[in-house]
Amino acid sequence: MVDLKGQYQKIKQEVDARVQGVIESAAFINGPEVKRFEAELAQYLNVKHVIPCANGTDALQVALMALGLKPGDEVITTTFTFIATAEVIALLGLKPVLVDCDEDTFLISTEAIENAITDKTKAIIPVHLFGQCSNMEEILSIAKKHQLFMVEDSAQSIGASFHFKDGTSMQSGTMGDFGCTSFFPSKNLGCYGDGGAIFTQDDELAEKARVIVNHGMKVRYYHDEIGVNSRLDSIQAAILSVKLQYLDLYNNNRRAAALHYDEAFRGVEQLSIPKRSIHSSHVFHQYTLKVDGIDRNELQQYMMQNNVPAMIYYPVPLHQQKAYRDERYKDGDFPIAEKLSNSVISLPMHSELNKLQLNHIAETLLKFINNKR
Ligand SMILES: *Cc1c(COP(=O)(O)O)cnc(C)c1O
Repeated sequence: MVDLKGQYQKIKQEVDARVQGVIESAAFINGPEVKRFEAELAQYLNVKHVIPCANGTDALQVALMALGLKPGDEVITTTFTFIATAEVIALLGLKPVLVDCDEDTFLISTEAIENAITDKTKAIIPVHLFGQCSNMEEILSIAKKHQLFMVEDSAQSIGASFHFKDGTSMQSGTMGDFGCTSFFPSKNLGCYGDGGAIFTQDDELAEKARVIVNHGMKVRYYHDEIGVNSRLDSIQAAILSVKLQYLDLYNNNRRAAALHYDEAFRGVEQLSIPKRSIHSSHVFHQYTLKVDGIDRNELQQYMMQNNVPAMIYYPVPLHQQKAYRDERYKDGDFPIAEKLSNSVISLPMHSELNKLQLNHIAETLLKFINNKR
């Protein structure tokens, strides 16, 4: 699905030199490379504060902790996402309130958010799934109207920007009280291990998050609150600092690959090409098709047998996951997410795809469809 080796070969000299520099300096934790990457990413995103941490899941958890939410508080998020989004809500003793998504963009339904709000609702976590921003203009206005916090899950959308009606744009992760991202190797900006970051425009929230990621400690060995140990190590920061220079190029390559797929599949009755939101740019963390009239699982098997990876993101919506089964929800409650989980398929998507590969992938998929006719 990704080609991390091919990508590394092109930046090997730069990466190796920076990693070697960290090893020689022995500043492995909170070293100058971490400070440098923090500043570079803040500038790239045009956000006031970047707080690096150990992974994207921690980023979400620390953001919710910094907001001071209390057990029983309700947090609304989409049922069609990676588990981490709801996991941290549950871990903190908060109540995940799941809602359905939009059939065309796969993004959280703003109408469903409004319908799910109760007097216990404290926060909304829109997930900018597959690489484009949720409808932030509407979600921000809902959050404002009901005085709710908003934490953006930008793990899949770093570099995407949201376009407001007044003509201004903002980067994914910089519009909510907090934005959270992941630097997992296969993410659009991936390191060579685990990593994550929290973004905020708010000085006070930034300070809180900084204290929480460091054991609740402002002055060494004085712990003002219960925190966690969540750090981005200096080697990963050095790698990310190199790769950040190429993020726009990587995202452009992904967009070009997506257009190539679009051309190959346009007009094919059994396939719906991914719909672009009119409010957001798309950084194609995933290129996800919807299939109709063919057996999705059989298609995936066929692709795999022909050495073309194809993945299902996600085969089971959160409300149907064993660990998250809840008497509040039953099968059929979120018909769109349930339908999508049976009809989506994602093709290889990364910064290094060439025309030969794209053609081969598309031809393999089309061969399956033609054989069925
Ligand atoms: C990857 C991902 C996360 C978690 O990031 P990790 O770094 O793997 O902990 C959270 N939310 C979404 C939507 C993701 O895709």
